[in-house]
Amino acid sequence: MNILMVSSECVPFVKTGGLADVVGTLPKYLKKNGHDVRIIIPKYSTIDGVKYKLKTLPYRLAVKLGKEEIYFRIKQGFLDGNIPVYFIENMRFFDRIGVYGDSNGIGYGDNRERYTFFCKAVIEAVKAILFVPDIIHCNDWHTGLIPAYLKITNAYDGFFWKTASVYTIHNIAFQGSFDAATSVPLAGFSWEDYKSDKLEFYNTFNFMKVGIVYSDIVSTVSPTYAKQIQAGFGNGMEVVLKTRKNDIFGILNGIDYSYWNPKTDTNLISNYSSENIENKNLCKTDLQKICNFDCNENSFIVSCVSRFDNQKGFDLIIDAINRLQNFNVQFVVLGSGDSYIRDTLLYLQKKYPKKLRVFNKYDEPLAHKIYAGSDGFLMPSRFEPCGLSQLIALAYGTIPIVNKTGGLADTIYDFDKAQTPNGFVFDLYAGESFVEKIKYAYKIFSDKTSWNKLQKNAFDCNFSWNNSLTDYEKMYNIALNKKINSTIYR
Ligand code: ADP
Repeated sequence: MNILMVSSECVPFVKTGGLADVVGTLPKYLKKNGHDVRIIIPKYSTIDGVKYKLKTLPYRLAVKLGKEEIYFRIKQGFLDGNIPVYFIENMRFFDRIGVYGDSNGIGYGDNRERYTFFCKAVIEAVKAILFVPDIIHCNDWHTGLIPAYLKITNAYDGFFWKTASVYTIHNIAFQGSFDAATSVPLAGFSWEDYKSDKLEFYNTFNFMKVGIVYSDIVSTVSPTYAKQIQAGFGNGMEVVLKTRKNDIFGILNGIDYSYWNPKTDTNLISNYSSENIENKNLCKTDLQKICNFDCNENSFIVSCVSRFDNQKGFDLIIDAINRLQNFNVQFVVLGSGDSYIRDTLLYLQKKYPKKLRVFNKYDEPLAHKIYAGSDGFLMPSRFEPCGLSQLIALAYGTIPIVNKTGGLADTIYDFDKAQTPNGFVFDLYAGESFVEKIKYAYKIFSDKTSWNKLQKNAFDCNFSWNNSLTDYEKMYNIALNKKINSTIYR
């Protein structure tokens, strides 16, 4: 199959969260299975063209944004040396320090224009490079208009006659909702299509709704989240999802074990695996030094590597930091985003310098050191579509302590409830439940035999993309058949 993966981010070029990991990894597995897979993302100015050996392709293209003509270029590089990655280049929209917003977590005022432009540019770019996709796989709100272009403005475009679209929801909390009066003409749609079963969403123009309605198949990133978003956790999208209930797939994300591997990870002071777990202690001491903590093997280090966002349960983490000061627990937090969360954590760091270290930045090598050097990993998310961090933690023998929701419920099995446990799970989103779980995990940590067994189970977990690949292929085939049938019989 010819598969075009469209996204606003992709590792290693640009990343703010798990979306980038997925888009930079799934294609490698599709490629290994014989598919011609390509990726297209914006050329943010932070993407180093020299480092990634990007070449400018010889096209001068333009799209219309409202009445304005916007020119752009395409750059090309490769993922893993053999997967073509195309970059849509336009300085006006993508020459920014941040991806979606500034360092205080405030979104850019022209995000609607930026991603409307991106969606339109993708359609033109695919035609310019003469890659006829069987599947255009769109991801999150930034790409939501593409399925609609395929079904409305380009419905009779022979180039796309057998191109199906798949729309994956990585996080339904970010929908890209804008004022309709100006968005509909900006995107080039007709008011005739501005109806409740088409473009309209409660008097707004909502990119995610458009993607859900017009794609051939909708998917999300874990089976539990697929159910939850249709039943009360859909951020207002439940009614729309109901209309697609037979077309919704929930496929668990995987992680790239060649990258997230303590045996070979070059960021670590010492490599280790389940066979020589003692070396993990060297990583722990290294992390304690970096954090300026007392280097004590018996201290329980729990960490969090995350966007600063209410979704991630920072109210519970902040509460736990305050309440566990009399315990031998050391907290490490790496993240960026919401300024209230940041300032509160930085305040607490001043108050408890020996018990809390906060790194307010995006730092990939440090993230690796934290995953390796910690004993426990905190993910008390209010909701979690899939979550990759808990899977990464498992790969490093670091035990997740999580709320039972979304992908966390599908991947973390509780110490007391599961036959083969790999973590600690609480199921009432409340400070008390979380604190009690950390205390309980600390107690188990103090019993080395139990803890080592838990670590072994964590190492044995296999959340590789190989497990989900067949489901993706099945889903692509269903989408393609739907598209071909609808084109032939219309
Ligand atoms: P989400 O996609 O909701 O942000 P996930 O758990 O799916 O959450 O993925 C988060 C990914 O981003 C993980 O790979 C995690 O290590 C990484 N990450 C998040 N914040 C940072 C940071 N400040 N520095 C380095 N990596 C980070």
